[in-house]
Amino acid sequence: MLHAKLTDLEGSFQSSTLTQIFSPLLEQKKIECWVKRDDLMHPIISGNKWRKLKYCLDHALKLNSHTIISMGGAYSNHLHALAYTCKQLGLNSRGIIRGEEAKQKSPTLLDLQKWGMDLRYVPREAYRVLRQLKEYDALPGNKTGEYWLPEGGATALALKGVADIVTELETEFDVICVPCGSGTTLAGIIASCSENTKVMGFSALKGAGFLSKDIEQLLKKNHSNKIHWLIQLDYHFGGFAKCNNELLLFINDFKTCHNIVLEPVYTAKMFYGLFDLIQQDHFKAGQKILTIHTGGLQGNR
Ligand SMILES: *Cc1c(COP(=O)(O)O)cnc(C)c1O
Repeated sequence: MLHAKLTDLEGSFQSSTLTQIFSPLLEQKKIECWVKRDDLMHPIISGNKWRKLKYCLDHALKLNSHTIISMGGAYSNHLHALAYTCKQLGLNSRGIIRGEEAKQKSPTLLDLQKWGMDLRYVPREAYRVLRQLKEYDALPGNKTGEYWLPEGGATALALKGVADIVTELETEFDVICVPCGSGTTLAGIIASCSENTKVMGFSALKGAGFLSKDIEQLLKKNHSNKIHWLIQLDYHFGGFAKCNNELLLFINDFKTCHNIVLEPVYTAKMFYGLFDLIQQDHFKAGQKILTIHTGGLQGNR
């Protein structure tokens, strides 16, 4: 059973509903497109970050951990969700931040500070070394009560939380689309959906060919051997957090047409890529596609 503190916190969340979207393109190509609204779950804790954190924090609480330590960049949605959640749960949090402390802090870092996260800055080389640590007790010098979460919350327990997305669905879809950073959310969907569903990730990073191997490793830990998945590597718009006018126009249009807010790092790139693929007849007429709106709107600031 989930730790009572987490059940309480989750009780304050909104449910993640399904919205169908309509457009001349979808009508012309006879594609049914739905959005799972993980962006609506909580005003501060980003949807997929909660999914990934939930069972890790449950594990940490059951180990009587008092401090959660993790790592990320100055705009990290993962650290943002972690710092806020730890504050709500009465846990200490420590964030290892890539690069030097800047004079002008990002809005994300200011929030982390406000929520009491202990921020430590490390040079990029040291950061790369920390990135390799995957297990909860893997941090060198780890003390009793300290719990390590790898970058992006990429753990086997995270997949279990992401699987809830699939469990909540009442119908089957031909395709499920999800944006990818570390690929953990994608792996969780792959591991939990039916053989009849094809899962498609859209990478927010440039040159993300390595992602498939990371995902296969996570799936192996989860004893999954699904094959119907792939990652679109060409909709990164120049790289992680890079953006151009075309993407900003797309975000504006999307808001006007569907009344759904996207952010430029992950979700806009996925929808842009999906619509491009639909335009190119990548999907068969009559197919039902589900997209996951992973949230992340705090990064818009
Ligand atoms: C972190 C994040 C992702 C990427 O999730 P991964 O599990 O790291 O692939 C996607 N969308 C949003 C909004 C995010 O904040």
